[in-house]
Amino acid sequence: MNIKEKCVVSMHYKLTDETGQLIDASEDQPLLYIHGTNSLIPGLEKQLDGKVKGDQIIAKVAPEEGYGPVMPQLIQNLPLSTFQGVEKIEVGMEFEASNDNNEKMIVRVDAVDGEEITINGNHPLAGKTLNFDVNIVDVREASEEELSHGHVHGAGGHQH
Ligand code: ZN
Repeated sequence: MNIKEKCVVSMHYKLTDETGQLIDASEDQPLLYIHGTNSLIPGLEKQLDGKVKGDQIIAKVAPEEGYGPVMPQLIQNLPLSTFQGVEKIEVGMEFEASNDNNEKMIVRVDAVDGEEITINGNHPLAGKTLNFDVNIVDVREASEEELSHGHVHGAGGHQH
């Protein structure tokens, strides 16, 4: 069957950035998701639409259909004194912060320059063009129960 809304898709995938560097990949077990439920980024889901078991898809996804553009307002320089109680600030550390709308967000440390700390609240993949190499392992109808739970059951999915 063709991939369409409310299908369970099993796939192996490899994600690389513009320079060909590996970002992420499926492991021994394929990734399972329900098509049409925003489980994947829109640009990838769109390119998998209509494909069948056995297909290989090379999908290039622009930031607009991936994790969005880098928003400069989410990058800030803060004085070290903001991080009271943290023994040592290092690049790559993540903190929970609140934005102007009082929503919780994860920010990570992008740079440490003496007393000045640069934090970044953008998704790590924001602004990146993503290259997916996908192999469709299986396509089947989702069960009513899976649709009501919003996730896949059985082997490779939720066991309950
Ligand atoms: Zn469930």
